Amino acid sequence: MIGLALNDIFKIGIGPSSSHTMGPMHAAHHFIGSLSPELLTKPLAVEVTLHGSLAATGDGHGTPGAITAGLAGFHYETVTLSDIHAMWQSATTLGQLSLESGAQLRFNPEQHLYRDTVPLSNHPNGMTFSASLEGNVVAETRYFSVGGGMVEDQHGHTLATSAMQTRGGPFPYASMNELVDWCTRENLSIAQVQAANEHLSLQLEHDAMSATLWSVMSDCIDRGLAAQGELPGGLHVKRRAGALWNRLLNNSQGDKAPANAAQRAMVYAMAVNEENAAGGRLVTAPTNGAAGIVPAVLKAHLDEHQLNEAGVNRHVSVFLRTATAIGGLFKMNASISGAEVGCQGEVGAAASMAAAGLTAALGGNPRQIENAAEIAVEHCLGLTCDPIGGLVQVPCIERNGMGAVKAIAASDLALAGDGQFMISLDQVIETVRETGRDMDSRYKETARGGLAIHGLKIPVTAVEC
Ligand code: SF4
Repeated sequence: MIGLALNDIFKIGIGPSSSHTMGPMHAAHHFIGSLSPELLTKPLAVEVTLHGSLAATGDGHGTPGAITAGLAGFHYETVTLSDIHAMWQSATTLGQLSLESGAQLRFNPEQHLYRDTVPLSNHPNGMTFSASLEGNVVAETRYFSVGGGMVEDQHGHTLATSAMQTRGGPFPYASMNELVDWCTRENLSIAQVQAANEHLSLQLEHDAMSATLWSVMSDCIDRGLAAQGELPGGLHVKRRAGALWNRLLNNSQGDKAPANAAQRAMVYAMAVNEENAAGGRLVTAPTNGAAGIVPAVLKAHLDEHQLNEAGVNRHVSVFLRTATAIGGLFKMNASISGAEVGCQGEVGAAASMAAAGLTAALGGNPRQIENAAEIAVEHCLGLTCDPIGGLVQVPCIERNGMGAVKAIAASDLALAGDGQFMISLDQVIETVRETGRDMDSRYKETARGGLAIHGLKIPVTAVEC
């Protein structure tokens, strides 16, 4: 194995759900793209079946609209809410979608989108797309939304999310141990191994993709700090990040970096997750529900250093590429889906990624980076997924704040150590997988146990992380 690419882990998209909004849109977009140009000149009729969790919970979280926009050729990276509304309007009133190529698809989500709540064996979030010509099926493909907006086909292959692929990279690894071995043998950092596997320059200050991701992350934090009011969904949860930020500013001496890094990171993380709950634009890190931790810890780190533009670019690249390597190990060897392993695979993985990224940006060696990553996730083991009302608000928003604080503490501990430690990151990731397998399904995105049953007495709709 060769690890995952930067924008397999970090994808620009929209809230509130990476598995229920972004993944289905990506699958629909891929299905249409897989049809031959000749077929698309014909009057094709499309039908879609949602299986398992997507059938049971997708309606409340925009899955039908996301699939409609995806079939019309929109992608989560650039789609807007008004695009989704316009496509929905067209499909439900005219019964068809017009593609950019001029092709017309017969598809009305109110008639041609079916729900089968029995999950397929591969994964709880399944979808089947079919295209017919004069009543005969001419193409049929099954997809699975496996977390973080990532989609696999029926053969278990992950759909490409970018032109930058890691296939054929020079330093294949399937574990942290193998990754650190490459670093030692080639005298490279983890971020450089990651860049080399994506066929990129090792001069990380020229990393355009990391700079783009950071710009979207940073904008999301700023919007979250500026916004006020109540989040949608019926829980009447008030946004708090802006008020918390003003409290830090009021207690400061006019510093650029008021309070300490952990306090700032906690507020930044909550700002991102409030934006996610409101359907705003953000970067999965590695999922929407856990999207606050990595940008929060990165911003808190940048606040404290007087860096020029090249320095900011280098720190951002080192941070995000190191975090990508760690996130890829979670994806390959456990899961980043709350439906599979609970929140330990989302907030736990994000805290681990952020701890590793921060340690790398602060100059830690590969073993110290591994130590930081394993400390952060070790203390998230067994973390269940049980949000109230099925909305990614309570406890998710605060949980991201806590995850950011944990990541900073883990990095501190690792940098104070000598790179010797008892439990390896590979062992902790294996424990995430085994603990997730043993975890009762009530605690894995079903909203049937834990905090979810002690919340306000509103109807449970869905979990949408
Ligand atoms: S509790 Fe569940 S929905 Fe909330 S952040 Fe964790 S995995 Fe996502």
